[in-house]
Amino acid sequence: MSHLHPLDENDPLAAKRDAFCLPNGVIYLDGNSLGVLPAHVPERMQHVVEKQWGESLIRGWNEHNWIDLPQKVGNRIGRLVGAEQEAVVACDSTTINVFKVVSAALALRPGRKVILSDNGNFPTDLYMAQGLADLLAKDHELRIVSPEDVADAITDDLAVLMLTEVDYKTGRRHDMKALTEKAHAVGALAIWDLAHSAGAFPVDLSGSNADFAIGCGYKYLNGGPGAPAFVYVAPRHQNDIRPALTGWMGHVAPFAFDLDYRPAEGINRMRVGTPPVLSLTALDAALDVFEDVDMEVIRQKSISLCEYFIAQVEDRCPEMELVSPRDAEVRGSQVSFRFAEGYALMQALIANGVIGDFRAPDTVRFGFTPLYLSHADVARAVDVLEKILTTRMWDMDEFRMRRKVT
Ligand SMILES: *Cc1c(COP(=O)(O)O)cnc(C)c1O
Repeated sequence: MSHLHPLDENDPLAAKRDAFCLPNGVIYLDGNSLGVLPAHVPERMQHVVEKQWGESLIRGWNEHNWIDLPQKVGNRIGRLVGAEQEAVVACDSTTINVFKVVSAALALRPGRKVILSDNGNFPTDLYMAQGLADLLAKDHELRIVSPEDVADAITDDLAVLMLTEVDYKTGRRHDMKALTEKAHAVGALAIWDLAHSAGAFPVDLSGSNADFAIGCGYKYLNGGPGAPAFVYVAPRHQNDIRPALTGWMGHVAPFAFDLDYRPAEGINRMRVGTPPVLSLTALDAALDVFEDVDMEVIRQKSISLCEYFIAQVEDRCPEMELVSPRDAEVRGSQVSFRFAEGYALMQALIANGVIGDFRAPDTVRFGFTPLYLSHADVARAVDVLEKILTTRMWDMDEFRMRRKVT
């Protein structure tokens, strides 16, 4: 870089950029969908593939502790989300983990029938709750209100409050502590999806008294496409829950090969089947970049990047309408704008090296990841956006053709 952007002076995270493989000519504002490859991951993967798998073969489960990777990685993620030790395990996908925690929570509240969520939740969470309710066939109701109405909808018929802390479309952030407290006051349990929180800013699961949480490994945690997810169970519940998915890896003694299921002690009962060692290896290695950073420092820079982006876009691109909350306090680490031809606009941005994403019907979404972005990147991204809008470059057939993944 020839000269430093004034807002990048004294950036305590500036050196972290070198820990990532960023393709030349790309400004990556989509780390909230798929995190960037940390530079040392390929070497670690190669080692585990060639040395551990290649040479140790089946002995690797013991010799390299593959069997304990879900807990090891879980504890590392737990540190980032304010969990107690041995309260998080890395396993399965977020979708599957939704099923596990909702079923466990419902079983702890047998007399109650209502699961409360909001229409800002990610659809897979809602689908899983609906499917589970159908499967249980005990007249459970999935009640969906708008995000602003959640607090008032917490009534004493609730079994479970199931929310995603940061809205994937708008970036609006719920008050996890206050809503959990409200749920507890009516005797309900609180489940938090941290898909857009973990690795993005400080989370305090323990201090918020959350009952259960889940989240993704491939977003801000940079674990790679389809990385294992995580699941948190508050220590006070761990030995009271009976998992719905009673797999052998959640058994108290998997290698006793008992014919009867008996749950493992603690968080391990949330495990189901054989852990994906290669995927866990990538996620484990990716977490190294968080080892020496303070999540508060990440948060401060994230706010600064987001505020700068909003100010620049509103100043230079008046046709864009802010969808995200203006107040950083109630916003995650992403900023969304509405534009009628949002899909075509995002395709044009991507073709010009600025990668964000599009969420139907008309929202363009930009994620800000302080570990590898600078204010200079933000300024350049807005230059590109402004040029595309003033030249109406988005209005070309090639940018309107929809692909399978948006
Ligand atoms: C990204 C995301 C998911 C994705 O779930 P997968 O099982 O990884 O496909 C689920 N919930 C929320 C809130 C998300 O943002």
